[in-house]
Amino acid sequence: MLTGLEGLTFSVQTFGCQMNKHDSERIIGMLESLGCQEVAGPEESDIVIFVTCCVRESADTRLSGHVMSLKDHPVRTGSPLDERIIAIGGCIGQRDGEALTQRMPHVQVVFGTSALHALPSLLLQAASGARAVDTHEDGVLFSTDLPAHREHAWAAWLPITVGCNNFCTYCIVPHVRGRERSRALEDIRAEAEACVAQGVKEITLLGQNVNSYGRDLHGEPRFAEVLDAVDATGIERLRFATSHPKDLSEEVIRRFSTLRSLMPALHLPVQSGSDRILAAMNRRYTQARYLDLIHRVRDACPGIALSTDIIVGFPGETEEDFQQTLEVVDEVGYHQVFTFIYSKREGTPAATYPDEVPREVAQDRFGRLVEVVGLRALEQNQKDMGAVVPVLFEGPSKKDPRLMTGKTPKGQTVHVGAPENGCVPEAGSIASVRITEAKTWYLTGTLL
Ligand code: SF4
Repeated sequence: MLTGLEGLTFSVQTFGCQMNKHDSERIIGMLESLGCQEVAGPEESDIVIFVTCCVRESADTRLSGHVMSLKDHPVRTGSPLDERIIAIGGCIGQRDGEALTQRMPHVQVVFGTSALHALPSLLLQAASGARAVDTHEDGVLFSTDLPAHREHAWAAWLPITVGCNNFCTYCIVPHVRGRERSRALEDIRAEAEACVAQGVKEITLLGQNVNSYGRDLHGEPRFAEVLDAVDATGIERLRFATSHPKDLSEEVIRRFSTLRSLMPALHLPVQSGSDRILAAMNRRYTQARYLDLIHRVRDACPGIALSTDIIVGFPGETEEDFQQTLEVVDEVGYHQVFTFIYSKREGTPAATYPDEVPREVAQDRFGRLVEVVGLRALEQNQKDMGAVVPVLFEGPSKKDPRLMTGKTPKGQTVHVGAPENGCVPEAGSIASVRITEAKTWYLTGTLL
């Protein structure tokens, strides 16, 4: 019988949002600190961990596919375990708990969204042959005392809230992650200071709705104070995700013109341009209110890169509603839009709404939306032709290893050829680049 996890190999597969990716970093850091070794794929892993998302139905299906494919695969040669441990965490773990082990009997561990700390003991129980499930909602909400194994040493995600109080009618998150809870400002400041001391260049503050940070602590949102505190640590680049338009305050908008580190990029999900559909989604703003916010953000930070999320084919969406969404895309001119066809989530109010939009109609609208989004994104990138921008380099490009890839302050991807003198900028360093080519989803430039 194992008394510790030392020497075991593991791999983590992550689905969904940045919050989940951040949880995975903590899981990897925690298991490495216990003597486990991360390996590339499930075949060589004694432990396979899935950090899951239930926002879209396709995520459930994908998870089942991945888990079932491991069913009859023996554990690696030389493993101290008789069989591979499969653990499911994240939102599906929280939502389905014990039922997952009944549906998929070869899953031995299920852990919820606030049970990261419990994972080592759950894995040990599984190693001794027991099923282990922990979906308590009163666990540790912010697992920031666990070591993180960051994907990039220079970039850190820093959670400031968990949960959500908004109950958009299509969304499962409040039902799975629970009510919104804010992290103490002192904890956020301390972690940001530690990141700066470790050489982190970019911090992204995370929450389902960062703009309402502090409402549960102080009775009113205090997100602007978080921005001030993190900026004061001396961090080079500061970003945040995600914002709800109804809570984006004047104080926060003003920070785009006053804070040195706050990058000129804002993700502001609109979801639809139709007031009728926005009301059915329970978004609590109108198209006019949203566009007014956009104008105020652009007044505070001319040239800011805006991105958004849009759902097409929400129940009852007519062609006229859809045209209003296209109008918003045209007027705003987003740098990036994450587009989705509505998918029903059981347990949400919208799942019971009549007037489902036929799949082929939704797909046709999706295609037309993607076309307009691409045209507007290209126009935005073309505005940067000839500009000299500071680029935070990430390493060789995935599409062509002869190129270096990095991010502009606006968050655009830039590919840069190696300079003639051979002095390639190190990953994590910031250097000036002149933009020489603009494509829809990336830029090309020359190192100065
Ligand atoms: S704001 Fe709406 S879409 Fe975002 S997590 Fe909360 S309920 Fe879901």
